[in-house]
Amino acid sequence: MRALMIILILFFSVQLPQADQYTPLREKMVKQQLIDRGITDKKTIDALREVPRHLFVPQDLQERAYDDSPLPIGFGQTISQPYIVALMTQVAKPGPGQKALEIGTGSGYQAAVLSQIVDSVYTIEIVPELAKDAEGLFMRLGYGNIVAKFGDGYKGWPERAPFDIIIVTAAPEDIPQPLVDQLAENGRMIIPVGDPNSYQELVLAEKKQGKIIKTRITTVRFVPFRRL
Ligand code: SAH
Repeated sequence: MRALMIILILFFSVQLPQADQYTPLREKMVKQQLIDRGITDKKTIDALREVPRHLFVPQDLQERAYDDSPLPIGFGQTISQPYIVALMTQVAKPGPGQKALEIGTGSGYQAAVLSQIVDSVYTIEIVPELAKDAEGLFMRLGYGNIVAKFGDGYKGWPERAPFDIIIVTAAPEDIPQPLVDQLAENGRMIIPVGDPNSYQELVLAEKKQGKIIKTRITTVRFVPFRRL
């Protein structure tokens, strides 16, 4: 009897993460906020369908985790709106076998989404508490291909460069040169650039034969890119 109980408990604790009470809300978010608004990349859609966004927001905001908006995560920072996470992921065109760098770990949600698609994700956060919390969450949820650290993302992560994908989730006034240098040939960087206290342009910067080609994607509003 006791052995049976243990087996049952093990069975349900293993099954739980796949379908949780938020699965219907997550499905609705994917359909209404992503697919109906033109997100078409299957890898992106599947990743946002998979990652339990409610575990990346403060507990008292879990019920709003699938709302069509950013949410506060403490320290004046925010987790981006689902559509923006999907758009940035789709435009970055991540794929298997690739290595990605994210600047601005925040809640860890964007890194978790990327980790579903690429081989490895390196992510840097400038607020020590957020860096530590995200690292703990990646461990608890079993995101073994994410490496997180505290630091100033301006400098990138030269020891791990070059990166096929770079996603920056805080807004600098100009693209940091170290990130350009650490982008691989044919690599793609997606970054909000502009006035940190107003709106910014979301820019795709591609490296082709050593040169950077920029394409404007849309207008966005991100938290300021800070320096240590
Ligand atoms: N990608 C995050 C979004 C967090 S908001 C998510 O999915 O939740 C942007 C984050 O960038 C904030 O946590 C902020 O502290 C961080 N940030 C700002 N400037 C930074 C810098 N120079 N280096 C690293 N992180 C930075």
